[in-house]
Amino acid sequence: MKVLKFGGTSVGSVKNMCNVKNIINDGTKKVVVLSAMSGTTNALVEIANYIFEKTPNKAIDAINTLHESYFKTIDALLSNTQLKDETKAYVTGIFNFLVTCTYEGYSKKLENNIVAQGELLSTYMFNAYLNQEGISSTLLPALEFMRINGVKEPDHFYIKKQLKNVMASAPETNIYITQGFICLDQKGDVSNLQRGGSDYTATIIGAAIKAQEVEIWTDIDGMHNNDPRYVENTNPISNLSFDEAAELAYFGAKILHPQTILPVREDGIPVRLKNTMAPEAHGTLISSQTSENGIKAIAAKDNITAIKIKSGRMLQAHGFLKKVFEIFEVYETSIDMITTSEVAVSLTIDDDRNLDKIITELEEFGTIEVDKGQTIVCLVGHSIVNHESTFKLFQILKDVKIRMISYGGSKNNISLLINSKGKVTSLNKLNNYLFELVTL
Ligand code: ASP
Repeated sequence: MKVLKFGGTSVGSVKNMCNVKNIINDGTKKVVVLSAMSGTTNALVEIANYIFEKTPNKAIDAINTLHESYFKTIDALLSNTQLKDETKAYVTGIFNFLVTCTYEGYSKKLENNIVAQGELLSTYMFNAYLNQEGISSTLLPALEFMRINGVKEPDHFYIKKQLKNVMASAPETNIYITQGFICLDQKGDVSNLQRGGSDYTATIIGAAIKAQEVEIWTDIDGMHNNDPRYVENTNPISNLSFDEAAELAYFGAKILHPQTILPVREDGIPVRLKNTMAPEAHGTLISSQTSENGIKAIAAKDNITAIKIKSGRMLQAHGFLKKVFEIFEVYETSIDMITTSEVAVSLTIDDDRNLDKIITELEEFGTIEVDKGQTIVCLVGHSIVNHESTFKLFQILKDVKIRMISYGGSKNNISLLINSKGKVTSLNKLNNYLFELVTL
């Protein structure tokens, strides 16, 4: 059985929902994971923010606007009067619930409940649409099987058991529809797998049912070898290993949620990235297969802050880095890149919400320098660090001021930290030269 996940754009309009219907209606048994319609989760986050800011009237306006837009979509999607009425009643129930949320004080639990509604809306509507089109499908409520544990990781054992049970309740169904992103936490409260988490839902399900393949359908034809927003003539990468894909997902190739491949890599379940608007395109296949050495892709991650800690106490001392890292742990701030010398350590973070507090604590260890507005440019490819052409990287970027280099952390990644102002130039230089010089 396959698991197919469709993103917000894929269910974001009646036309696209029709494309999704055509893609999934091939007579084979499958699980279909849906995101919220594009823009909905953002709108729900905004509603939660209004509640946080104690401006309930703004929240109610936003709820009404969203409610109206859903009614318009339902009018265009469903012609069957009974299904239309039932769907409108369901949707109205959700919007009434959102209105009751505006009477409550803000809490993270309330926000989680609010943002979960987007996937409940999209799956209900799409399921009704399939029924109207005479395609038999069953809605599997994700909150009945998807659960995270105390450290916010999927509770695979529970998920496998529960999913088996809910699927067994509709054995004759060909198409199981379920919500991406949403789950329960270990206390039984509604939670989620973080923004963009529907990809992760798909692979968690894929691992639980030992799927033959997981397909992630978006609005772009696979992972590109450079950022198409800044570089012309980028190409979709046809094959990536799990390792290469993990490196790219962490470093800004926005197409895939960073944790997506973790659940499936152990069982070697392939993940295929496909384009709903061009289903015939090959897309990108992520699997256990490694390809020849060389540079496969370039990605960039912005809004990086570099922190340098300069301290004589580091010299031949042990335990220094532990103390430094503990401060980041206390503030739940993850470190992306790190380089050290005998008297200084530089590291980068992308979440600077607690930067001031972190710096105050770091100042106990030495002099601190902070550079905001940095970008990590990362080059990914199988065994890239050993490739004979890699030295050319430094010739190509000879005019770019490189703040940090990470080489050898993994054999598939070389990361450079540069000022964000130099990003577009660097991405283009790398594209022009490396892809010409290096045999892919
Ligand atoms: N709807 C959620 C979001 O917009 C999850 C997802 O689409 O993957 O982040």
